[in-house]
Amino acid sequence: MINKKQVLLEQIKADIVNHNICPDLAREATNLVMGDGNVNAEIVLIGEAPGKNEDLQGLPFVGAAGKFLDTMLESANIKRSDVYITNIVKYRPPNNRDPLPEEKEAFWPYLVRQLDVIKPQVVVTLGRHCMEYFLPNQKISLVHGQPKRIPFGKTKIVVVPLYHPAAALYNGGMRATLISDFNKLLKIIDKLKNNK
Ligand code: URA
Repeated sequence: MINKKQVLLEQIKADIVNHNICPDLAREATNLVMGDGNVNAEIVLIGEAPGKNEDLQGLPFVGAAGKFLDTMLESANIKRSDVYITNIVKYRPPNNRDPLPEEKEAFWPYLVRQLDVIKPQVVVTLGRHCMEYFLPNQKISLVHGQPKRIPFGKTKIVVVPLYHPAAALYNGGMRATLISDFNKLLKIIDKLKNNK
């Protein structure tokens, strides 16, 4: 059965197409990669932009970084089917180049709307570039794994900045840090619920 949140998320997708967001990216892309997972998730994970596999399948984090993300989630006792995963930029940038600031800017309002629909307990940013949008002027090396409550529109959200799985894939030290940070997530949510 389709629920209200799914309808609202479909509307956001339709708006991205109808508003002709980033037409240059859209022209090259195979799919618009909106996001995937549980629309009632307590955790929303946000990456940068789809890569080649994500573009082909229309799903976020299904390539090498995605497989690694699955390992991280599993090690933290979090089911992928329980979280919602998306990116700031919803079309693959050509040749996997970094998304441009104006591309992130163009997609930002739609990400805000997605979060407004899902209303997670925590927003997990993956990587420095995504973090900067929520926590400007912070250094990821200093704040990774720490929950930060920030104003967000008319409400507040809790953001937990983590390193990007792709960066940690071939870096043993960062990998250990990322595993340790992922393992904090359920405790952070428990604490938030108990403080309410
Ligand atoms: N990296 C990202 O930031 N997002 C994806 O969906 C895949 C790789």
